[in-house]
Amino acid sequence: MSLPRLRAGNRLVIATHNAGKLTEFRELFAPFGLDLVSAGELGLPEPDETGTTFAENARTKAHAAAKGANMLALSDDSGLCVDALNGEPGVYTADWAGVPRDFGHAMKRVEDALQAAGANSPGQRRASFNATLCLAHPDGRDVLYVGKCDGTLVWPPRGAMGHGYDPMFMPDGYDITFGEMAAETKHSWSPGQSGLSHRARAFAQFVENQIDHG
Ligand code: IMP
Repeated sequence: MSLPRLRAGNRLVIATHNAGKLTEFRELFAPFGLDLVSAGELGLPEPDETGTTFAENARTKAHAAAKGANMLALSDDSGLCVDALNGEPGVYTADWAGVPRDFGHAMKRVEDALQAAGANSPGQRRASFNATLCLAHPDGRDVLYVGKCDGTLVWPPRGAMGHGYDPMFMPDGYDITFGEMAAETKHSWSPGQSGLSHRARAFAQFVENQIDHG
């Protein structure tokens, strides 16, 4: 299935109510001159994420926003999958932060689960961040782009940058966490490169396939 390519000046809904994700998308999209507006800014309702895969939830969010705004919409469903926890929290990554979201609590919950599993050495504390982007058209068509970033979970959390679980995730090849990293390093994306973070890696494919740029 294919969708029309986007170019500077085109309007695109970012199907999120998550301020951290929106900030990252605005930074990633900066070179392309698109007119971005979020589902939250449009006052669209936040759909229930009842899927059991990132793809299902990404589709739910993108289609809700595309239909609600009658425009192309891009969603991101993402999460942290911890090897020693059989992939948890996975699609429930946001839920582990409770309501209202408290990511200090969420990271402690991951750490407690790792301790209960006896996962103390770095090799036992492997995890990945995963992102599935879905671009949806109001007529029901969609396309998906997937990105993954492998790393190790550290304790205690380190750094105050980024969002969510960033302070306990150290990506492979670095000795600092996402929480200690400048945004440009976390995204580390530029045309022709694959990027570092899960979102940047999925975004690189999205750009290649969906954006006309000079
Ligand atoms: P959802 O995609 O809205 O279901 O939520 C994804 C969850 O994963 C949120 O709780 C985020 O905080 C977390 N998450 C996704 N990407 C990142 C990231 O880049 N850094 C830290 N946490 C993330």
